[in-house]
Amino acid sequence: MPDIAIIGSGPAGYYTAEAALKTWGDAARIDIIDRLPVPYGLIRSGVAPDHQSIKGVARRFETTALADNVRFCGNVEVGRDIGIADLAQCYDAVVLATGAPMDRPLDVPGGDLGNVFGSAAFVGWYNGHPDFAWVKPDLSHGTAVIIGMGNVALDCARILAKTRAEFEGSDIVGHALGWLDAGNLSRIVILGRRGAQQIMMTPKELGELGQLAQAMPRVDPADLPPLETDSELEPGARKSLAALRSFVANHGAMIPGMVPIDFVFCSAPHALIGDAAGNVTAIDVEETRLDAGRPVGTGVIRRIPAALVISCIGYRTSPIADVPYDVREGRFANVDGFIQPGLYCVGWARRGPSGTIGTNRPDGFGVVDRIAADFAAAAARGALPAKSGRAGFDALVRSRGLVVISFEDWKRIETAETDRARADAPREKFVVVEDMIAARDIAPS
Ligand SMILES: Cc1cc2nc3c(=O)[nH]c(=O)nc-3n(C[C@H](O)[C@H](O)[C@H](O)COP(=O)(O)OP(=O)(O)OC[C@H]3O[C@@H](n4cnc5c(N)ncnc54)[C@H](O)[C@@H]3O)c2cc1C
Repeated sequence: MPDIAIIGSGPAGYYTAEAALKTWGDAARIDIIDRLPVPYGLIRSGVAPDHQSIKGVARRFETTALADNVRFCGNVEVGRDIGIADLAQCYDAVVLATGAPMDRPLDVPGGDLGNVFGSAAFVGWYNGHPDFAWVKPDLSHGTAVIIGMGNVALDCARILAKTRAEFEGSDIVGHALGWLDAGNLSRIVILGRRGAQQIMMTPKELGELGQLAQAMPRVDPADLPPLETDSELEPGARKSLAALRSFVANHGAMIPGMVPIDFVFCSAPHALIGDAAGNVTAIDVEETRLDAGRPVGTGVIRRIPAALVISCIGYRTSPIADVPYDVREGRFANVDGFIQPGLYCVGWARRGPSGTIGTNRPDGFGVVDRIAADFAAAAARGALPAKSGRAGFDALVRSRGLVVISFEDWKRIETAETDRARADAPREKFVVVEDMIAARDIAPS
């Protein structure tokens, strides 16, 4: 029965392990390898810290993680610490569930100015991802422009706009909470190339924007299509548009102490403008018109002041040596999750950055079906190559002096994070890898 390595412990990785358990029961040996010492991918470092109920899905994965034949091997980066060829010697199947952690670049002049961030960096900062602990956005003045009209843009706007009290019960990391609390932004703009009917935001998240204590969403009624065209939309999009319509009541309103959050449609980033110190001061946008739903530039350029820019325009999978990569799509080259014999991919690494946590479930189950079929076919041909299995992997990491974090270690890290939490928070995450590793040695309280 197969030895399987799943690379990445986000939803796609755990759903794949769940599917493998369903298919082979105790007979398979499943190692879930992650570059971080802590599991769960974007559930921990992407999903907003004030959406704790969504983060709770991680508890479901614990059942899988605690199965006798499933191991978590944290703090091992594939492509750096261990190669694809190494893994191929140990495992019958290697499944890449590495997500899409790199920001799609904002391809306009000035994209490299100071105080311009991609959402992976900005979200990673407030969620305590060790790669982004360095991000210190200047929130001291002026307008924050958020580029993109999806839920990630809404998350960023909401986090920027919330008061300290509104973070009660969240697990936003202390460094970000203090920084946001000291901030003094006067306006937030959410900018999109397309129109109000084309937004990718969901009604619930839009609704939250209308409930903020010290910020108010505003929409210009002139930007909205006639009410009677709403019936042409599918129900979710219709509800989202209804939420936007409710923000029209705030159009033009200036209430002392309330930060306006303005939706600006049909405006494509054209260039970022900076000052002598190299920091962004404005964004030039080109007005667009829609041609069959697609934005087409009109040549009309407008300038919007911007002291902070966050681009939420999508993500790309990080390439790994020896794995075919589709540069145009920004993910591994694959057909329904199959890359090459013995190598597969799932989740965002397979399809790109779209869908919810649950969208990754069928991916995991689909790829396990494929592995089972390939494994059975090879066995029938008598062509199953001998693999060194877990023993081979353990010998490799030992020979390379790697510190591997087990699931039991993670549970100790988790306890340490819970123990050091603020009174109103479920945990205070460690944001430095060495601190995470050291925390496994802290005696539980
Ligand atoms: C800001 C944001 C907010 C979101 N909010 C929601 C929400 O509220 N609700 C919802 O349903 N969905 C939400 N999503 C979507 C959801 O998070 C994704 O659908 C899901 O996490 C994708 O799962 P994945 O396993 O493919 O990737 P990921 O969750 O990114 O997991 C990838 C894992 O692979 C590991 N890894 C990467 N490279 C390597 C390597 N070379 N070696 C070893 N390990 C590696 C990473 O450390 C990570 O643990 C959000 C996404 C973002 C970006």
